Amino acid sequence: MTPLLAGYRRFRAETWPQQRARFEALAAQGQKPHTMVIACSDSRVDPQMIFSAGPGELFVVRNVANLVPPYMPDAAFHGTSAAVEFAVRVLAVKRVVVMGHALCGGITALIRGAPEQARDFVAGWIGIAGKARAVALRCDDPVAAQEAGEHEAIRISLANLMTFPWVAEAVTEGRLTLHGAHFGVATGRLLLLDAEGHFAPV
Ligand SMILES: [Zn+2]
Repeated sequence: MTPLLAGYRRFRAETWPQQRARFEALAAQGQKPHTMVIACSDSRVDPQMIFSAGPGELFVVRNVANLVPPYMPDAAFHGTSAAVEFAVRVLAVKRVVVMGHALCGGITALIRGAPEQARDFVAGWIGIAGKARAVALRCDDPVAAQEAGEHEAIRISLANLMTFPWVAEAVTEGRLTLHGAHFGVATGRLLLLDAEGHFAPV
């Protein structure tokens, strides 16, 4: 716990005094985040850091490979779908951003197979983006295949979001917009999915 507690002490000494009033207002009034971000659990891709956001701005769910499953209201434990439901129906966020990233281990596992120690859950989970594997395998170069897989998985998650009836309704009524983004870990650059379906630099 040593590195965590050292970081916590820096937070208390430096960040908390600056942000205290904001936290107190958020505690009193409740949160009203403008954006939901669905990002990867990867330790290098922190949405709050990338978007220079403060407390109360982003409602974030992070999972392996930033995937959204299709709408399946059954008895299974749908953590990501629960977060989408809360963000869209209760908090009424204005936009949902699915943010993928370069060097995504989840997408590597999708293309090459999950590591043997990660087959209880990871293998099934990344199957959500199964169609991205076929797209990736059309590339000769492994770097291009990885990137194509990452991009296609974002498109699949955006399409899956539209299978949630209240997401589709909010989008149709103009209350909600959906966006795809891809962060370059080595470059620090963000690409946005444009209307033609291509990822272009911001
Ligand atoms: Zn990842």
